[in-house]
Amino acid sequence: KLKQPRLPSWLKTDIPAGQNFGKIKKDLRGLKLHTVCEEARCPNIGDCWGGGEHQTATATIMLMGDECTRGCRFCSVKTNRAPKPLDPHEPEHTAEAIKRWGLDYVVLTSVDRDDMPDGGSSHFAETISKIKLKAPHILVECLTGDFGGSLDCVKTVALSGLDVYAHNIETVEALTPYVRDRRAGFRQSLSVLKHVKAVKPDMITKTSIMLGCGETDDEVLETLKELRKADVDCVTLGQYMRPTKRHMKVHEYVTPEKFKHWETQGMAMGFKYVASGPLVRSSYKAGEFFISNILK
Ligand code: SF4
Ligand code: SF4
Repeated sequence: KLKQPRLPSWLKTDIPAGQNFGKIKKDLRGLKLHTVCEEARCPNIGDCWGGGEHQTATATIMLMGDECTRGCRFCSVKTNRAPKPLDPHEPEHTAEAIKRWGLDYVVLTSVDRDDMPDGGSSHFAETISKIKLKAPHILVECLTGDFGGSLDCVKTVALSGLDVYAHNIETVEALTPYVRDRRAGFRQSLSVLKHVKAVKPDMITKTSIMLGCGETDDEVLETLKELRKADVDCVTLGQYMRPTKRHMKVHEYVTPEKFKHWETQGMAMGFKYVASGPLVRSSYKAGEFFISNILK
């Protein structure tokens, strides 16, 4: 039986606070926005909200409720086959709140809504176009699910005016059936990323891989090659952390040196940027990385 390995020192961190942090936190009150950063108690909040060298503050906002129609074995979001209907005012309210907030880069993500005919893609697209209308200077990234493989839904979001389209592959192909919900698929996720480029060739695409689930180095390398073949521009790699005892075990705590290795490897393979480290999450300092590596 696999024993849970002990937490290594590099994962025991205090939550640091950057310069913008206090201001953004204060501004958030009263806006009724739910950030993943706060709700997931993300350890990167100081880095992301504080901005970095370019003072580019990033936050992640969750749309379409807090109940997911899927149940991935690594994810702490609640599962419900029939979640509450969407709030039709959410796109407008979210756009207004984001405009008033001192953010430079916003990541919009959501639960999966397999209960809806369009998977919520038009709701996503409406939110993005409203943000761009009210605050064109804010860079917008979406992190969507696979819409059950519906490429029309992918197209709806890809053409809504956003700057970066992210969809997470999460793990290597061999582990996908154990890690992700059975409705997800490695090839299906690659087809989502490929389709974004097919409908909008200049869109920046991005994906994320969790390490420490039992994958081999060869499998990680193979995954990076597949992503390059799909013309994915950016990749982030981070450590899988078990949210509760009911979730899948951590197989291994990958060392910071190994994460560095994947960063070097990925950059040599031609990704526009690779963010790789034990605490890196899909949206980690996304604004900073975008400004330094894409807009340069
Ligand atoms: Fe928020 Fe993502 Fe940064 Fe965490 S990594 S603080 S969730 S933007
Ligand atoms: Fe979590 Fe996304 Fe899986 Fe839903 S589809 S359980 S939100 S990872």
